[in-house]
Amino acid sequence: MLLLPLYAATPVRAQAAGNVAAVQLQKLLNGNRRYVADRVRRHNQRPNGGPQYPFAAVLSCSDARVPPEILFDQGVNDLFVVRVAGNTADDPAAAHPTVTDSVQLQSLAYAAQVLGVKLIVVLGHDQCGAVKGALEKCGQSAIGPMFQNVCPALHGIGAAGSNNKLKEAVAANVRSQVALLKSTPPFAEMVKRNQLRIVGAVTDIDTGRVSLVIP
Ligand SMILES: [Zn+2]
Repeated sequence: MLLLPLYAATPVRAQAAGNVAAVQLQKLLNGNRRYVADRVRRHNQRPNGGPQYPFAAVLSCSDARVPPEILFDQGVNDLFVVRVAGNTADDPAAAHPTVTDSVQLQSLAYAAQVLGVKLIVVLGHDQCGAVKGALEKCGQSAIGPMFQNVCPALHGIGAAGSNNKLKEAVAANVRSQVALLKSTPPFAEMVKRNQLRIVGAVTDIDTGRVSLVIP
């Protein structure tokens, strides 16, 4: 009986971390609502020289139309952002047979383990050129890691064509990257222990609205 509080401490902490992630996600979605409605606050736009303490990490596409800090109306020191064309975290096994890690994964692991971030958002967007290119090139040889990283997500999507096909592929790529992170150390264990939440979202280029694909 005396040991009960010790055992109870872990789930309580995990629940607290889960609550923190929920609040942080809502903070991002509220910021995006302000951005879409053209009522941005643009807080903390100046450097302050203090330590780094972002409240969320974002794996975003490099596309110039989707800067996460602006989409979510956040300021300096709010978001830890990893941006690569196609918002992928992995190095493709086909291109780099011996690589099981990547600079994207290491960067996000730093955010989660060292900076204590409790929320990672994988953020895709419609009209994504990297995903469109992958739809056209997957299956061809030497297409390079930017397209190759997207290819595993596109099985069953079919060839490029309508805008709906591309939307479907963008969402599939986000889901694939969320699944990759959730099954990769150190994220897998942190998610299992409820110390980290990983969600997937897509930005509508026309409106700037961010919609959750995987909440
Ligand atoms: Zn893109």
